[in-house]
Amino acid sequence: TIGMLAIDAQGNMAGACTTSGMAFKMHGRVGDSPIIGAGLYVDNEIGGATSTGVGEEVIRTVGSFLVVELMRQGYSPEAACKEAVERIIKKKPAIAKEIQVGFLALNKKGEYGSYALQKGFSYAVCDAEKQDRLIPGNYIF
Ligand code: ASP
Repeated sequence: TIGMLAIDAQGNMAGACTTSGMAFKMHGRVGDSPIIGAGLYVDNEIGGATSTGVGEEVIRTVGSFLVVELMRQGYSPEAACKEAVERIIKKKPAIAKEIQVGFLALNKKGEYGSYALQKGFSYAVCDAEKQDRLIPGNYIF
């Protein structure tokens, strides 16, 4: 999954995501990416979130909506992502070593953060005020 979150100079927010789904998926499987609130959610008053990993687990917790609601309660983007991942694992501790689930979040103030269960989750930041180039080094894990 590739998820994108954006905020413009007026503070308006948007998000998008795409996915290849899971390897060897059942015909007709619908992952989290096309389900608003699961793989992607943006509330222009609060912020946005997007996810990657095993979509079934993200759907069960309405993960991206959860991240945005946690930010509404005052969580930082990274703390909200971590809490959402921990809720998934709390329900099914046995799968913690077997699956990947990760979230990326951006709040209305332009703060961003992420958290993923396993290594290999990275993101890049593009800041128009910094000459519209990708800022290197903003990789988590
Ligand atoms: N979240 C996607 C799915 O479950 C998989 C991915 O991250 O690419 O369909």
